[in-house]
Amino acid sequence: MASALHASAVGLASAPNALRRRGATRSTSRSVAGRARVSRAEAIADPAAGVDAETVWKDESECILGTYGRGPTPVFTHGKGCVIWDTEGREYLDFTAGIAVNCLGHSDPDWVAAVTEQAGKLCHVSNLYHTEPGATLARKLTDDCFADRVFYCNSGAEANEGAIKFARKLQMQRARDAGETEWATETVSFSNSFHGRTLGALNLTWKEAYRTPFEPLSPGHTFATYGDLESAKKAIAKGKTAAVFVEPVQGEGGIFPADEAFLRGLREICDEAGAVLVFDEVQCGLGRTGYLWGHQSVGVEPDIMTVAKPLAGGLPIGAVLVTETVAAAMAPGDHGSTFAGGPLVCHAANAVYDKVNTPAFMRNVVERGEQLRNGLREALALDARVTEVRGSGLLVGVQLSVPAGPLVGICRDLGLLVITAGAGDVLRLLPPLVVSEAEVDKAVAVIAEAMGKME
Ligand code: PLP
Repeated sequence: MASALHASAVGLASAPNALRRRGATRSTSRSVAGRARVSRAEAIADPAAGVDAETVWKDESECILGTYGRGPTPVFTHGKGCVIWDTEGREYLDFTAGIAVNCLGHSDPDWVAAVTEQAGKLCHVSNLYHTEPGATLARKLTDDCFADRVFYCNSGAEANEGAIKFARKLQMQRARDAGETEWATETVSFSNSFHGRTLGALNLTWKEAYRTPFEPLSPGHTFATYGDLESAKKAIAKGKTAAVFVEPVQGEGGIFPADEAFLRGLREICDEAGAVLVFDEVQCGLGRTGYLWGHQSVGVEPDIMTVAKPLAGGLPIGAVLVTETVAAAMAPGDHGSTFAGGPLVCHAANAVYDKVNTPAFMRNVVERGEQLRNGLREALALDARVTEVRGSGLLVGVQLSVPAGPLVGICRDLGLLVITAGAGDVLRLLPPLVVSEAEVDKAVAVIAEAMGKME
């Protein structure tokens, strides 16, 4: 069965009817709890064996905290490249990549080899001890950008939490060195920003619906208007603003790339005010824009950069990259994390980084991104509900004048996974960075068909 499924994935580019339902019912035996028992051989032969969608939905709805409104959507069992399969053997073209995480697609052979090799050697020892993969990764990360040092963590929100602390510590250290007793502790971020859901990161996140149920948040945060330097100037103040957080390309907020003048102006305002400039590249970083880091397209450098999602190709990781000036303010014991920078995730991240950080890989991102945007503009040109197609590399948004949610559902029924962004009126496309020309054409055709079906 596995080879048949794999063959259909490989044939996706050429087979006109490749997005199809296998339709076979499964014949695995059931335990009293309703879960199927499968042998290891069965599981290898058919990765979906023993996984019953009804049971998964029941277990989830009864036992998992209801923070994700996902309803009875497909239960996925395995993937290969940009294709993913559900319990019914139905295949989908994945243009979400786990929300910008699976940059090499599913089950990339080099990633699988790295994970299995390291899992068989050493998975975790904690930061009490040294291991090689995290040191090697830090060397690579600091070789290729503004940063001098790396702090590892486990997610994007956690990376931003770290950045808040590092900026505050730097401000305190500077003030003390100057004999002052007060220092800047506040933060600034921008309209439509998304920086995470933990309390510190939530403070920086724009969307009120995410914030208000958890108020009061920390005092001392100001929002400025994204792209508007006058607004930034008013919000950022010497002696008050410790750090300014900005996404070089906003993702969750609706796919808005910042222009060079805005990022350059922010750099100048921060320098004048003594504020730390933080680029949040959790979604737009590591090749997604066709540059290793999103800000490298404009040549403006931050003091801190936060990264996460794609770095370990699907395993949880985050990192805060800092200049030596920021690093110098931190001392042993100032911050830490049990899991962070473990050998398993870092060995996987080394494999990801080596694959992504090549001119040929970046060229594919740039070319497929242009193909996707141009293809969508052409295919949707006559649809008055489409007001703009925008983005950078393979972070693409289709701005609609109507809610995009129904379109996501129709696309899924047609075998294409996409998500929304912004106020729910943007269709967000972020395929694995290895997406092929044929797969981009296929996605454009499905989206055009889905728009035709949307009332
Ligand atoms: N920052 C940005 C720009 C993001 O897009 C996200 C998540 O979507 C986060 C931070 C939070 O990352 P995580 O969900 O890993 O905490």
